[in-house]
Amino acid sequence: MSSKQLKFLFIGAHPDDVEMGAAGTILRLKQSGHWIGIIDLTQGEMGSRGSAETRKAESKEASTFLALDSRDNLNLGDAKIENTENNRAKIAEQIRSHKPDFVFCNAPKDRHIDHGYAAQLVLDACFLSGLRKFHNENDIAPHRPHNVFHYIQDYYIEPSFVVNITSVYEEKMKAILCYKTQFFTGSEQPGPQTPISSPEFLEFFNGRASQMGRLISKRYGEGFIAHQPIDAEEMNWFDN
Ligand SMILES: [Zn+2]
Repeated sequence: MSSKQLKFLFIGAHPDDVEMGAAGTILRLKQSGHWIGIIDLTQGEMGSRGSAETRKAESKEASTFLALDSRDNLNLGDAKIENTENNRAKIAEQIRSHKPDFVFCNAPKDRHIDHGYAAQLVLDACFLSGLRKFHNENDIAPHRPHNVFHYIQDYYIEPSFVVNITSVYEEKMKAILCYKTQFFTGSEQPGPQTPISSPEFLEFFNGRASQMGRLISKRYGEGFIAHQPIDAEEMNWFDN
């Protein structure tokens, strides 16, 4: 774990969720000099292709490519993420440790059942980490992020805001293709076909980025849903 204070913390149910939903935003935030961390809630060990070991190696490669400042894995169990007090406490500990202003998490409702469960789990943990007495035996300063944003995954959801990722789109795709067992990288990989392993999935993915970009009259975008209204002070309209 890094001791750096992260302004932005990205959390995903599976290794590759954050890259797919928000790697363009991460690349742009890194260009602006921000420290960025990712927490994966599971090892993705239930995926039809790859193993916990191969996915760990792929996630390490993607982390290096994105120049992340920290990446942790809580190993909560793939395809069995539950919103339990124990899991909320584990995430609250991470929130108190990293003290992010903004947390990004999975889509609130999606094709993979873990995504919705993970989203609510993270929302609840972000609230609870602000309570001094919640699972805080070492009396670490409580911390509650200013806002939590959901990245948009398989199901289309109308975004609250869109980040223009046109300038980093090619780099985003390189980060995603670090997960060689999961996606089509030019040649057929061993293992069964999955809903995301075909060349057609990458076409869909490209279309989604184009669709999000269109909403803000840019070529490619990443859309996000804000859990709470966005504070207008954070839109850089006003001189401080
Ligand atoms: Zn996932």
